Amino acid sequence: METQEIQPDSAQETQVAQADAALQQLLLVQESDNAIALQIHKRELLPERSAFEALDEKLKQAVALQERIKVHIEELEQDQTKTEAEIAETEESLQESNTRLYSGEITGVRAIEALQEQIAVLKRRKQNSEEIVLEILERRESIESKSATVNEKHDEIQARHTEKANLLKSEEDKIGEILQGLQQQREELTAKIPPNLLSDYEERRDRLGGIGVAALEGRHCIGCDLNLMHPIAEVERMRQSPSGIPVDCSECGRLIIVANRED
Ligand SMILES: [Zn+2]
Repeated sequence: METQEIQPDSAQETQVAQADAALQQLLLVQESDNAIALQIHKRELLPERSAFEALDEKLKQAVALQERIKVHIEELEQDQTKTEAEIAETEESLQESNTRLYSGEITGVRAIEALQEQIAVLKRRKQNSEEIVLEILERRESIESKSATVNEKHDEIQARHTEKANLLKSEEDKIGEILQGLQQQREELTAKIPPNLLSDYEERRDRLGGIGVAALEGRHCIGCDLNLMHPIAEVERMRQSPSGIPVDCSECGRLIIVANRED
């Protein structure tokens, strides 16, 4: 630009030039936002993420199986404790009955027979309970051996889970660093854009599928379907809009940047 003499309206001209520069700058912000969105998309679709998620599901299943086995073992332990207590109680009754039988206190034949019958019942009860305990012990042994296998499998999955989690984190960190750089770049780009214009752009970008501003090239708005040729009157409306004043595409609603306005 040539050096011009200071004219009375040069302040206004400078303002218009600044407003126009801010509008042009929006295209760079859009590019920056596209790059940011691409990295976020890449981060979501990392192959390391699907590998990790598959293993995470496996780990959850392994933990759930461990939990079911633990509950099962606890139930068996409770059954065992309860049955052993019953055995102890029956034994006590048996001892009492035997003591009475041999104490010489009971003399009648019927009373002795009744007591002998009672002792026989108690013995059968004790035997039954002992069989139940044996059964419980067998089931415990079987489930405890299964538990050892399940724990081993769990530990193996856990180790791979940690490995995949680290791999994912490392890839996420790499993208995180790129994103940080892009965000910083964007901050620099937006520093000189008036807040109203920036929020207008951001509102349109969020509403219109990530694109808030587009260039007008010939009779095409880059934000619209490129097969769409705008009517000449519409193109003229956009091209002849005052410099520095935002104008939008009547078709797609995006802010329009008119290149080569002077042509
Ligand atoms: Zn458009």
